[in-house]
Amino acid sequence: VGTSAAFNPDAVIFPRGCWIEGRYELGDDDEIEVIRPSDGKWVKTERGASDVLVDKAVLSAARAFRSSGWSTLGPGKRAKVLHAWADLVDAHREHLAQLESVVSTRLVQDAKHRDVALSVALIRYYAESLDKLHDQVHPTDPSVLSITLREAHGVVAAIAPWNAPLLLAMAKLAPALAAGNSVVLKPSELTPYSALELASLAHRAGLPSGCLNVLIGYGNTTGAKLVKHPQVDYVSFTGSTVSGARVMADAAASGPKPVALELGGKSPHVVLADAPNLDHVADMIATHVNRNAGQVCSAGTRLVVERRIAEKLIEKVVDRLRLARPGPTWSSTATLGPIISAKQAQRIEDILGRGQSSGAQIIEGGTRVESTGNGVFFRPTVAVGMTPENAIVAEEIFGPVLAVQVFDDFEQALLLADHTTYGLSAAIHTANLDRALCAARHIQAGTVWVNTYGLSEVAAPFGGYKKSGFGKEFGLAGLEKYYRHKHIRMQLGAHSVLGNR
Ligand code: NAD
Repeated sequence: VGTSAAFNPDAVIFPRGCWIEGRYELGDDDEIEVIRPSDGKWVKTERGASDVLVDKAVLSAARAFRSSGWSTLGPGKRAKVLHAWADLVDAHREHLAQLESVVSTRLVQDAKHRDVALSVALIRYYAESLDKLHDQVHPTDPSVLSITLREAHGVVAAIAPWNAPLLLAMAKLAPALAAGNSVVLKPSELTPYSALELASLAHRAGLPSGCLNVLIGYGNTTGAKLVKHPQVDYVSFTGSTVSGARVMADAAASGPKPVALELGGKSPHVVLADAPNLDHVADMIATHVNRNAGQVCSAGTRLVVERRIAEKLIEKVVDRLRLARPGPTWSSTATLGPIISAKQAQRIEDILGRGQSSGAQIIEGGTRVESTGNGVFFRPTVAVGMTPENAIVAEEIFGPVLAVQVFDDFEQALLLADHTTYGLSAAIHTANLDRALCAARHIQAGTVWVNTYGLSEVAAPFGGYKKSGFGKEFGLAGLEKYYRHKHIRMQLGAHSVLGNR
């Protein structure tokens, strides 16, 4: 395990508690031990937000929505605050990347150059879109003016996971705030710090107090209380499919109130024998197995490959996976970060074990990296010989595991590409444009990449089909869901010249 450090993890200064009404406030509920996944070292003991603190945060957000002026600010003035926030996030990218990576699985270079950079781009994208979104005027008799206006929902509860804490929080904060909502954010209990820092920077940029509050806490206590709060008007959740279903049930029982769910995935690379450049394809596959040690919702964790090239491609992928350099998230040379917890590593092993007992063979990896202290690192793993029902194919593993499925003809490729449960994203690699488009239209997934892989533009919508969720993030669709639409119909008076014509 490499250790050449990009920063000193012991010197990072952390935010002090929840962020409510423009200041830090210590939690008052269950204790939460925050640890560094890279070496298992204890960082801090936080207290989650109790019912009282959740109530306080939501009432503060509701008050800010009604009377802080943020929701009624003109687009130019709101954009100015958002741009000031983007400037501050950009200026603090080192510190944000350190806060992010020290307690999470994100390598600091990825946190800085990907997550912070994309977060800045997201704020600016939504700030700049505000004066370009036009409301509607409906065709009517001239004596009537009939219009539809966008209005913010009110208080948005935003709940984010641990696997890319900063960027996934920002995918909610930037559009929800741009639309004029107030937000109460609950980051994962494992990784609360980057989100707290984002809130304090927003405050410094001029966002009124209460428009963005952040609560530390467990999902089934603080999170559930937040979702069920009567003054929460909209719930935006990113996490596992199981938790998403619970959140939706709670939102229904306590409202009903609208929810958007960004959930799990099991995305395939479909590789046809005519794929333009197998080395490049192998690079992409290996990169996305290793990135964040496979703990990415859209990771390409299945390889659906044409039999004629299967052996050759698998060999190329394995060669590249062996180059992975495990190391702590603060290392400047590591390319494979840790698994978030020992529990998650056991889950990976459990799925691999069940898969093997139903016939899967592990041809690469399959075990933890030895001598890594108290951090858990998992060797990039390749499994073959599975039916679609095998656990290694059927379940989201959330680790660096590639499940290989081989096909003989294009129809079979399309059948295998469609996962029975998930539909977050997929890729097809081929030189044949007809087949690429046919696959792109056939595959039941929210995103299909052709001869490429991975999220890149903030302008393109991202979000799942099937049990990967609903409600897009990024792009204008990611903004639109934070508005309600109000119809106003105005009967013009007797003096209307047009009406008397
Ligand atoms: P998780 O579902 O355990 O937790 C996610 C968040 O929800 C955490 O903040 C947690 O505290 C909270 N939570 C859990 N139960 C809750 C409840 N009943 N009420 C309210 N809040 C609750 O997920 P995780 O382990 O943190 O993240 C990994 C999962 O997230 C994977 O399944 C991954 O695919 C998914 N994910 C999806 C996307 C996407 O865009 N589709 C992006 C990243 C991660």
